[in-house]
Amino acid sequence: MAIQQDVLEAFEQQFGTSAEILVQSPGRVNLIGEHTDYNDGFVLPMAINRAIWIALQPVTGSEVTAYSLAFDETQTFDLSDLSHTDAGWIEYVKGVAAKLQEAGHQLTDWQGVIGSDIPMGAGLSSSAAIELATAQAFAAISDIPWQPKEMALLSQKAENEWVGMKSGIMDQMISAVGETGHALLIDCRSLDTQSVPLPDGTVVVVLDTSTRRGLVDSKYNERREQCEQVAAYFGVPALRDVSLEAFQARQHELEDLSRMRARHVITENDRTLDAAEAMRKGDAVKLGELMNASHVSMRDDFEISTVELDRMVECAQGQEGCYGARMTGGGFGGSAVALVQTEEVEQFVEETRQCYEEKTGLEASIYISEASAGTSYIREW
Ligand code: ADP
Ligand code: MG
Repeated sequence: MAIQQDVLEAFEQQFGTSAEILVQSPGRVNLIGEHTDYNDGFVLPMAINRAIWIALQPVTGSEVTAYSLAFDETQTFDLSDLSHTDAGWIEYVKGVAAKLQEAGHQLTDWQGVIGSDIPMGAGLSSSAAIELATAQAFAAISDIPWQPKEMALLSQKAENEWVGMKSGIMDQMISAVGETGHALLIDCRSLDTQSVPLPDGTVVVVLDTSTRRGLVDSKYNERREQCEQVAAYFGVPALRDVSLEAFQARQHELEDLSRMRARHVITENDRTLDAAEAMRKGDAVKLGELMNASHVSMRDDFEISTVELDRMVECAQGQEGCYGARMTGGGFGGSAVALVQTEEVEQFVEETRQCYEEKTGLEASIYISEASAGTSYIREW
């Protein structure tokens, strides 16, 4: 609510009139299924109660004008002449505009204010949230029918091709189609989704290490290439198509690094399906065990964890009432996620914070997260 109010007030200050439309798109936390999306596999994220909000109004003219509260900066661009200028945050907005145009949509200009309570670069996908919020902003004023999956794909294209980050489809999908009270099992090949409830008496806690990924897009893209090479070796379109049995029968043929990378993805796909099954049964213990195993696989086989993420996960796992914990998101910094007994959560937060500070000297940000609805807009408030 606070952000909603902030963007509306900032709009009046910036443009001297009231906004007509308010759009929001949430961040996300992934419970399990990491680096599986671009292998056509399975992921199990939920949208969180933190979002990017845009207050806007259509304008006649030939420019989009956006003010970001976070950057305290106004940027403009011309829809009839979109060019890539590497100007920072506005590239996400421009990229989505460009991909909407490529898909054949006629876009209307707007002026707006962007605000957010998703920390940037924390592994909670503020980038997908700004992309989907932008798509919703254009859709709402340009009479474009809102088809969430199409918009997620288009936003992913903006991130892959305009921004240059070769991320999979998970972040955009969950921001677009998130459901209150549920995580979503997403088949990243078909984009079919199944909603699965959080086990009764548990809460999801996001544990931000306050370390940031930095300039490691290359490491992400490198992991992606390693996976593609093993898929090609097995003669299939993606690692999704290699069963654990088929992998085990031939893993000795692979170099160490290829074997480790593929083993993570193949076992993680299985764990993700098992986790969804555990959630359907309300089995928090099983879900927690799978999260713990996922962390080991990311740390040792996929090698995307950091000292801080490992310490955070150990601190969380050591607390009373914690069913399981793992790093979440792309890795190399950012956040971990834990599944915790509701009645123990206050103590869990305090003791994990203290433990992490003792071990690293760093202050964690910890958020109890509710599973929330995906992208939406309102015209009256
Ligand atoms: P993550 O998606 O993990 O939060 P990314 O590096 O993928 O991290 O995306 C962060 C980028 O998204 C920021 O550097 C900025 O360009 C853009 N962004 C996120 N939040 C905002 C915001 N509130 N206003 C403007 N741009 C934002
Ligand atoms: Mg991102």
